Amino acid sequence: MTPERRRIYKNRLLNMRAQLRGDVSRMVSSALSAGDDGARQNRMPIHMAEMAGDHFEQELSLTLASSKDGTLQKIERALERIEDGTYGVCDGCGRKILQARLDAIPYADLCVPCARLDEDTANQGWDEEEL
Ligand SMILES: [Zn+2]
Repeated sequence: MTPERRRIYKNRLLNMRAQLRGDVSRMVSSALSAGDDGARQNRMPIHMAEMAGDHFEQELSLTLASSKDGTLQKIERALERIEDGTYGVCDGCGRKILQARLDAIPYADLCVPCARLDEDTANQGWDEEEL
């Protein structure tokens, strides 16, 4: 990877980190309207969510907070990897991550095949929603 590209990704990561840290309210409203958590909404329709009140809101904010922290951690890690020169290398298999994937998800730490394997165990829906 050329130093110029590294610098571009670093800038994008820094911008994303700033947005995640500063704009929580926008994330909450977009999560509610976009319906990215379909399973949850199927389990608990909106009118029931209102009846459930505080508990539901608390649970939702905890879910959002952990998602946000997860992305922030990935961004922090990607920034570290840029500094130590391992950015763009898959965490799972050690191969190069395709540039198109890094363009879509600058904090990706897995190549596409490894990410597919990972999706079986972890819900990647939030990351997709960010795009
Ligand atoms: Zn891989």
